[in-house]
Amino acid sequence: MIEIESVHKSFGKLEVLKGINLTVNKGEVVSIIGGSGSGKSTLLTCINGLEPINSGKIKIDGTEVHAKSTDLNKLRQKIGIVFQQWNAFPHLTVLENVMLAPRKVLGMAKSDAEAIAVKNLTHVGLAEKLSVYPNRMSGGQQQRMAIARALAMSPKYMLFDEVTSALDPMLVGEVLDTLKMLAEEGMTMICVTHEMAFARDVSDRVAFFHQGVMAEIGTPEQLFGAPQNPETQKFLASIR
Ligand code: ADP
Ligand code: MG
Repeated sequence: MIEIESVHKSFGKLEVLKGINLTVNKGEVVSIIGGSGSGKSTLLTCINGLEPINSGKIKIDGTEVHAKSTDLNKLRQKIGIVFQQWNAFPHLTVLENVMLAPRKVLGMAKSDAEAIAVKNLTHVGLAEKLSVYPNRMSGGQQQRMAIARALAMSPKYMLFDEVTSALDPMLVGEVLDTLKMLAEEGMTMICVTHEMAFARDVSDRVAFFHQGVMAEIGTPEQLFGAPQNPETQKFLASIR
């Protein structure tokens, strides 16, 4: 499980996270919504230790991410992260791109890494694209490759940061379907998203971030159906 306790994070004088508390249990899907600059991406980068925090604690299965004694490289293997865009290595095929981390980070034998890459690429619907170069694929296919790449490390947790925001509207569905499939398989996930229908359909809980504060969290029914916080109400009204 992921435990976030009173996390404060500043960039210089700018306090970006102002005491975030959130526990994500095994198998749970939590979506984070909120305006631009509210701290959503920063929280994800703190969870996998890409960014230090100023105070508070983040624990992954009981291990404190920011403790000096923590082996961050090892901990990060448990946490897959997919961003809005991932720049694949253009001179490597899709298969080679997905094999890279299992080979380099886990030191896997080539045949094992290949088997895992094929399995995960097949899982996200890219079995036909193994030997293609990334820039020959659509944006939606590239995002599914990025998901396969993260899955190839057998993570326990997946963090998604607006993975459909850079896509043509026509391609959003195929990527959201992939996330939905992972959710249904029981993957524990935190999804920062602008896709309200996705947040409503797939999440166990939805959190609304406003100016570095988790202003509200609840089931999709609660948050979308009867938002309590005026800022949540304003945000939801603005995007409808
Ligand atoms: P969101 O993902 O909700 O749009 P972010 O977490 O990206 O918000 O950013 C929150 C705030 O932190 C913004 O004001 C942003 O400009 C600032 N910020 C994010 N990353 C950095 C950084 N590396 N250095 C300085 N400021 C940053
Ligand atoms: Mg962001």
